[in-house]
Amino acid sequence: MSTFTAILSNPIEYLKGVGPQKGELLRKEINVHTFGDLLQYFPFRYVDRTRIDKISDLSGYEDFVQIRGRIIRMEIVGENRGKRLVATFRDESGVIDLVWFQGWQWMQKSLRENVSYLVFGRISVFNGVAQLAHPEMDLLTEETATGKQFLEPVYYTTEKLKARGLTAKAIGKLTRNLLEQLSPNEIRENIPLDVLKQYRLMPRSMAYFRIHLPGGEEEAHQAQRRLKFEELFIAQIRICRLKLKRHKQSHGYVFGTVGASFNDFYNHHLPFELTGAQKRVLKEIRMDTIHGRQMNRLLQGDVGSGKTMVALLSMLLAKDNGFQACLMAPTEILAQQHFKGLAELLQPMQVKIALLTGSIKGKARKQILAGIADGTIDFLVGTHALLEKEVVFKNLGLAIADEQHRFGVAQRARLWEKNDIPPHILVMTATPIPRTLAMTIYGDLDVSVIDEMPPGRKPITTVHRTEFQRPQVMDFIKEEVKKGRQAYIVYPLIEDSEKMDYENLMKGYEEVKAFFPEPQFYISMVHGRQPAEMRETNMQRFVSGDTSIMVATTVIEVGVNVPNASVMVIESTERFGLSQLHQLRGRVGRGAEQSFCILMTGNKLGQVSKERINVMVQTNNGFIISEKDMELRGPGDIEGTRQSGVLDFKLADILQDKPILDAARVSAEKILTEDTDLLLPENQGLKEYLAVQRGKSQWSKIS
Ligand code: ADP
Ligand code: MG
Repeated sequence: MSTFTAILSNPIEYLKGVGPQKGELLRKEINVHTFGDLLQYFPFRYVDRTRIDKISDLSGYEDFVQIRGRIIRMEIVGENRGKRLVATFRDESGVIDLVWFQGWQWMQKSLRENVSYLVFGRISVFNGVAQLAHPEMDLLTEETATGKQFLEPVYYTTEKLKARGLTAKAIGKLTRNLLEQLSPNEIRENIPLDVLKQYRLMPRSMAYFRIHLPGGEEEAHQAQRRLKFEELFIAQIRICRLKLKRHKQSHGYVFGTVGASFNDFYNHHLPFELTGAQKRVLKEIRMDTIHGRQMNRLLQGDVGSGKTMVALLSMLLAKDNGFQACLMAPTEILAQQHFKGLAELLQPMQVKIALLTGSIKGKARKQILAGIADGTIDFLVGTHALLEKEVVFKNLGLAIADEQHRFGVAQRARLWEKNDIPPHILVMTATPIPRTLAMTIYGDLDVSVIDEMPPGRKPITTVHRTEFQRPQVMDFIKEEVKKGRQAYIVYPLIEDSEKMDYENLMKGYEEVKAFFPEPQFYISMVHGRQPAEMRETNMQRFVSGDTSIMVATTVIEVGVNVPNASVMVIESTERFGLSQLHQLRGRVGRGAEQSFCILMTGNKLGQVSKERINVMVQTNNGFIISEKDMELRGPGDIEGTRQSGVLDFKLADILQDKPILDAARVSAEKILTEDTDLLLPENQGLKEYLAVQRGKSQWSKIS
């Protein structure tokens, strides 16, 4: 972390309270390598420890709660690994169970019945009943009687970290240790003073102290605002610089002719008539590539709008002009699907297409690499492994990236470096981002939109069902499957509660299996903990129709195409972001059959969850959904933001923080217009910062 001074580049194990073992874990689990990394491991929320909840008011959908009362009974329940301590806890309004799965022997010894405790923890629902697992227990003293008097930062942690004692609280403690030995001048300012003044932003060093140790809500808010501004400002500076650079040396290959390959395919092998929107976008691409300037275009189109065909036709255009083209997908499964799909379409033609992913090794790999280098391969499909140094093209003229949110500015920049003249770049995304925003975020890109669906699609019917209605839902799936259709059942898997989510997934799988017994029905299960090959096999069995039900986590989210699948069941819908729900829903409705999306929730729902679900039920339009998403997200919902995965910022959310983004953009443009090479003294902090940042692998890691 060299934009800080020496002390912040210290390896994390040297910090008081860490040591080699914990250091190793911090590196592996949360990517914290240095003191500086820890400093930037921000709390994702704060808990107001001054509030005390009533047990009778708890619905099970709160996050953290603090209650005050007594333990009236303790017992050990369950067998073997399922053994746990359950304490029944009562306040003046009701009772709730406190549960310990680990360390329960010790807890049982140390807890006492019928004395008053202040209990703080995260609420979870188990078998339909709300409980607090592993809460913090404080004996009630005068000091704690009215709750603790501060805003407590809450940090993400993982099961493995917790097992080593690195709970959210312990991470907070480490951060405090670090701040104690840090003097503010070790954190150098990177935003010019005028900008700080104009937007009343606190200095960088102060922000780092206050985000971890806020004196109150307002301080926390101001610290976050400053650091969000910084993230967005730096990103905008980079985007503007890229744009300037591109405009300065923007020569690109000329695709002067529409030739034999394109025409042959278009006239004889195109399986359907292009939509008006597809034709328009193709024209835009043609115009971009004809003038000798490099194309840098973002293609936005809702799921199922037919982006792949636009990609293929553009690739044929490249070939007709003597160039190779590549198509990159974010995962192996998607790359394989693209490869298979394109190879089939191209089968009657003289076009050589190859697939390159991490799992293609040895001789096969060598052959492909040779074919790319000598130009015998026209089109290469793969994952981002295509960006590796060993992949050398003879003459790459067009690079297409599918699902842009995993293909950032940095990767684009890397592609440009592959040739003297950079290839034309087309980035395709189905992540619905409001149009106004797209212009700002992708400031260095031109934007095309496919705003028309292929004809004949039956709109997906979306319904909301609760736990009470589960039997009917299962019956419905059964009917569809008996008709020969396939169904997805998707479970949330959130890093933060990974273990419980995983258990829920397994439980769900067992339930589904009981309802859909072999050999009448076959089920695939796909999740992130499986070895890649197993996941692949399960996926393939579903794709080929060998299995009719797919139980999965969101690993199936993007791009997968199984036209015969007509039912998408989403479990614990309230835990997904709207854009993610929309992406998931887009996995069905790809064939000729009427498709259904069933949003499952518990029986009780909060107001915002209800509204979000209503949006999904009412519209299939990704852009409307993204606008609503922006509108509905309450402030401080950093968690939800992270999962939506729109862009990789640590703190900022481009939707929610649009005003900050706009301000950052205006400032960045002004600075670069007045001082393009950052030579003025007031911009030296910024310049230094950018210089150190260059060459770092992870673009999104701002600091
Ligand atoms: P996405 O934009 O989500 O990547 P795809 O390119 O996978 O969408 O297209 C979705 C489906 O629609 C595919 O099965 C594709 O063959 C089909 N499709 C694409 N364009 C058209 C069209 N103009 N007419 C009919 N079907 C089309
Ligand atoms: Mg696609």
